[in-house]
Amino acid sequence: MGVMDLTEIIWCKHCNTVNYLDPYTFWNWKGKVKCAGCDRVYYVHIIQGFYYEGPKEMPPGEPYDIMPLYADKPLEGYESYKPGTPGRTRPYLCLPREIYLGKADKVKFSIRGRPVRGWAPQPPSSGLAGSQGFKWDIEKLSPDVWKEYQVKLRKGEVREW
Ligand SMILES: [Zn+2]
Repeated sequence: MGVMDLTEIIWCKHCNTVNYLDPYTFWNWKGKVKCAGCDRVYYVHIIQGFYYEGPKEMPPGEPYDIMPLYADKPLEGYESYKPGTPGRTRPYLCLPREIYLGKADKVKFSIRGRPVRGWAPQPPSSGLAGSQGFKWDIEKLSPDVWKEYQVKLRKGEVREW
C-alpha cells in the first residue's frame, strides 16, 4: 500500500496491531481512533501528517470518531485488515469522487464553433468500418450535430479564424 508509506501509525500494544492513519484523511486531524485489532481507542492530533499529540490511549469503553483504513499485524506474518472490514476498518471511499463518475463530455464543436470530426459514436451508416475518407457528410451522418451547427450559424457563433 504505497500511500501508507507516508503516514503516522498507532501501534496498539494490547493486540500488536499497527493501525495506519492514511494521510488523505488524517493530514490535519484531531480525534479518537479505534484500533482495528481490539476495542482500544486512541486520541491523536496530527498536523500536516505528523503527530502533534498522541497517540494517547483512552480508558476502556471510550467512544471513537473513526476507524483506520487499513491495519496489519507485523508480528504475525503481516496478517492484515483490508479496507472495509466490518467493525475494524473503514471502507475506502476516497476515490473515485462523485464528480469523476459522470460521462465524458463529447466535444462536438471547435473553439471557432465548427463541427469537429473526432467524436463518437457516429451512425453505423458511415461506410465500411466507419470510414468516410476525406468527405464527411455531417448532415447525413450526424443530423443532431448538423442541427446544432445550423443554430450556431444563425446565432453568429461560428467564426472563420
Ligand atoms: Zn488493539
